[in-house]
Amino acid sequence: ERQSLQAYRTRPTENADGRRVSLYANIGSTAQLDEVSSVGAEGIGLFRTEFLFMERSDAPGEEEQYQAYRAVAGAMPERDVLIRTLDIGGDKDVPYLSVGKEENPFLGYRAIRYCLDRPDFFSTQLKALLRAGAEYQNVKIMLPLITSVEEIRAARALLEKCKAELQEKGQVFDRNISLGVMIETPAAVQLADQLAKEADFFSIGTNDLTQYTLAVDRGNAKVEQMYDPLHPAVLRSVRQVISAARKAQIPVGMCGEAAADPKMIPLLLAWGLDEFSVSAPSVLTVRKWISQWSDRQAGELAQRVMELVTTEEIHREIEKMF
Ligand code: PEP
Ligand code: MG
Repeated sequence: ERQSLQAYRTRPTENADGRRVSLYANIGSTAQLDEVSSVGAEGIGLFRTEFLFMERSDAPGEEEQYQAYRAVAGAMPERDVLIRTLDIGGDKDVPYLSVGKEENPFLGYRAIRYCLDRPDFFSTQLKALLRAGAEYQNVKIMLPLITSVEEIRAARALLEKCKAELQEKGQVFDRNISLGVMIETPAAVQLADQLAKEADFFSIGTNDLTQYTLAVDRGNAKVEQMYDPLHPAVLRSVRQVISAARKAQIPVGMCGEAAADPKMIPLLLAWGLDEFSVSAPSVLTVRKWISQWSDRQAGELAQRVMELVTTEEIHREIEKMF
């Protein structure tokens, strides 16, 4: 089994008909880059930058952030490197950023909300990202927890301001850097067609999207059985987002855990997901699973699944194929 998996290290990621999709890796620190290359990931689909900010007593400055982002970009020249702006709050507490104690942290002052509320602080990260993209032009900026068109407009305006400031200082940066959004709230799903007009790409975050769609805390064992990305409401959301992206002709990926779920993979292939981003240890198995589905098989399964109304029926229908 292990040996047969090793064969997938150097293979292209394609389905049984030879149709290519991208298979990227999620990372939380530059220490994971070696593992990412060893499994033949074709890019970074999510770099969680909050880990740069954790377990220390003050925020990293522009230079320190630049060095970290540049290391990721340089480890994968010629490849896409999607770096997510700070996603603190919720379950990720960073004491010195003083988010404060909240009754409902997952619905509170976090991620893009926090960053847009502190433009000087956010600018430091945006400038570091702009500079890190200068050499290979492979850095893409991804915004977490988007719930409105205003948020991407505000982030883009700030990004333009950062460019002007770097320009003034004579620093090199990627002036055409891509700005994309995570689709991980029900509001973003419903606005996907509008967001697609302003975002350069989408990445679906099923970890939060499942939590917010089903109103189930992703970390609470008492309601764990209810947390399921194969719930029909989540599946409809995912299908809708992929379809909106395809209509607008922007790339759409998935960086939530569901991208590595063998039951989700045929559905994502059928709907036309462009890019799967999974943890490094999952890359080879996901490449293998993708290779096992033809367009026809996946398409027919997806059609049957979307006619079902309960999560349990959906699981059973997909299991029949294994
Ligand atoms: C997600 O919500 O699916 C996601 C990829 O981000 P995180 O798990 O860091 O919230
Ligand atoms: Mg998330």
